[in-house]
Amino acid sequence: MKLEGGCYCGAVRYLADGEPMMKAQCHCRECQYITGGATNMFMLLPGDSFKYTKGTPKQFSRSDLEKPVTREFCAECGTHMITRPRVPGVVVVKVGTLDDPTLFGGPQMAIYTIDKQPFHHVPEGMPSFERLPQR
Ligand SMILES: [Zn+2]
Ligand SMILES: [Zn+2]
Repeated sequence: MKLEGGCYCGAVRYLADGEPMMKAQCHCRECQYITGGATNMFMLLPGDSFKYTKGTPKQFSRSDLEKPVTREFCAECGTHMITRPRVPGVVVVKVGTLDDPTLFGGPQMAIYTIDKQPFHHVPEGMPSFERLPQR
């Protein structure tokens, strides 16, 4: 699956060529800062399938958390595009930064519903997890 995308201003562009390992919506409090308050729609992709084709993003990880993720965003326009979890070899791509977000097709599950807001929507019958599904 070929996925192209980038930030709002176009300074940073990426290309990913891999099969999504997970498609989900995340309800966590951290994601709410980045989405505007709704859930974060994302795809988990193999890390080696993802590369930047233009520009270099700025990286940020919180120093006050025990196991912080690294978030990468455009230093010009501020668009957050991907997250690198502590687990190596995977990358979390935000669906809204794809050139064609319809390629997402929709989430398979809801995660971190422990932080779910009353105005968040989980479709009827969709698997949901308080944190992450057990592996
Ligand atoms: Zn930008
Ligand atoms: Zn989240």
